[in-house]
Amino acid sequence: MIINDAKKVLKQYWGYDDFRGLQADIIRAAVSGVNTVGLLPTGGGKSICYQIPGLLYPGLTIVISPLVALMEDQHNGLVDRGIKSYHFKGSYTPRKLDEAFRNLRYGNYKFAFFAPERISNPLFLEYLSHADISLLAIDEAHCISQWGFDFRPSYLNVKLLRETLLEVPVIALTASATTRVKRDMLEQLMIADAEVFEGSIRRPNLHLQARFTPNKERQLLRLIPTLPGTGIIYAKTRRTCEKLAQLLSEEGHPSSYYHAGLEDDQKSAHSKAWLNNQVKAMVATTAFGMGIDKGDVKWVIHWDAPDTLEGYYQEVGRAGRDGSVSTTYLLFHQYDIARLRKAIEELPDVRAVESFYNKFCSREQIAYGSGEGHKVSFSILELAKKHQLPIAQLLSYIRLIQHRGLWQFIESERSVPKIKLTSQLHVWERLPSKDYELLIAMYRLYPHATDDFVRIDLARFAGMMQQTKADFEKRLELLHEKGILEYAPEQSASALLFTQPRPGAKALKFPAKFIDAWVKSKEERTEGMLTFLESESCLFQEIEMYFGQVKGAPCGTCSNCTRNHYPDQTQVERMQKEGAKLDDIWFDLNCSPDELKS
Ligand SMILES: [Zn+2]
Repeated sequence: MIINDAKKVLKQYWGYDDFRGLQADIIRAAVSGVNTVGLLPTGGGKSICYQIPGLLYPGLTIVISPLVALMEDQHNGLVDRGIKSYHFKGSYTPRKLDEAFRNLRYGNYKFAFFAPERISNPLFLEYLSHADISLLAIDEAHCISQWGFDFRPSYLNVKLLRETLLEVPVIALTASATTRVKRDMLEQLMIADAEVFEGSIRRPNLHLQARFTPNKERQLLRLIPTLPGTGIIYAKTRRTCEKLAQLLSEEGHPSSYYHAGLEDDQKSAHSKAWLNNQVKAMVATTAFGMGIDKGDVKWVIHWDAPDTLEGYYQEVGRAGRDGSVSTTYLLFHQYDIARLRKAIEELPDVRAVESFYNKFCSREQIAYGSGEGHKVSFSILELAKKHQLPIAQLLSYIRLIQHRGLWQFIESERSVPKIKLTSQLHVWERLPSKDYELLIAMYRLYPHATDDFVRIDLARFAGMMQQTKADFEKRLELLHEKGILEYAPEQSASALLFTQPRPGAKALKFPAKFIDAWVKSKEERTEGMLTFLESESCLFQEIEMYFGQVKGAPCGTCSNCTRNHYPDQTQVERMQKEGAKLDDIWFDLNCSPDELKS
């Protein structure tokens, strides 16, 4: 009965005849009013699981999601189908809030989207408690667990919401999570009684390859020409992304790169080139891929071993969304193993983290009980120098404090150099002729610079003035000091946004339980990755065990299932004659050095 109604709605708004996988079961449970959890792999049609029940219920469905872009997509998708949906974004005065809720009530709205941060506003919560809410949908629900790799402190606000709306059924959706995260998620969301539906994590069209090689660069260059279509190469650092994209392009495989330090216009230009298949590879940090909808990604390569299996599986999952066979390569050598082992040994000294936080606040003159909403920009390099900390350690302190919910870390955004012409022509005329010429040239090129800051292409301008970039920058600084123009040099700045008032010394103390959870979960995740790299069993089985799923049969396609234990000696000899190096042979024949010797 329920399912027939649900199918009618599916046909009416989406045009499909039937549901896929677990969708029907999840929808049936959610519509019957019980708390429901759906764990579906990426691309498994998660949003329909709350959208159809939302349409079948008489009242409003509220949807909580951690990513603004994702929320905007889902909201727009509903609006495009002629469904009334509201998205809370930006700031609201009490009056605007009143209008919004009145609209929701009398305007026949079916969906309202908002970020979990909004729940901490008591007025917002008050309005929600009086609204006619039929269903509470929580997307990316694993973000509520401190055991997860994606923990977001703001998600703990959902508890407040649950306490306010205890009678309203919940549907929580997420991709696969480890057993511990699943258990914690049910507890935190207060839905221990929920019906849980979990889809198999296995994606048979992905052929997973984890390949040991002492020479990644050589194997990458040999591999790329053999791969069809376009793909993604994930690397850990921004520098590596730029370097590899350049190397590949020089070797005749046009490639682009993407990381959080790029300007917005660069980001969109680089993504566009890749989306339109104008480049072979996008070399990117993990910042790339969230919300990118490209079905025909043919392959994914990991240049560095990821820190966690969750991260790894999310990233390889961006290949083969259209269902076609796609191969993924994880290239690793002993340094990756050593790095992961070291990560386990390096546990944070909590007192040092607390003292860093206090010093930081004092330096910024943030008093106890204040500072909420305050944003501090800084350069990581300078901050590390000031506090005499190695950068990696500083970053782990900052992240741990973020994990505690005290601030939000906004990773560096590179700013473009800018100028503003603040003086008049009659002033310029009195300057030495080379400064005069420079200012006139600048005015010709950037006439708006007299009104406002404009971006300046330093290299190009320096070339025009027949100067080196460094000399040119010095001249701009001099002119800035003299008050002839304003010059904002290029800089790379990160920021910390205080999401809570600064706690007093006692309240700041990191609870032992919290540290314990943080350390243990980090250990478990790192161990998981190490086990995966060192395993000899089917890689899909390893993933299934890590995520607490039933272990399926060996996949038959991964690098362990297809491992060549007895490499053909004549083939080996032929390759050697043709000039192949030893690691080429291991790589191409998928065998290990020991097997080759025998
Ligand atoms: Zn396998």
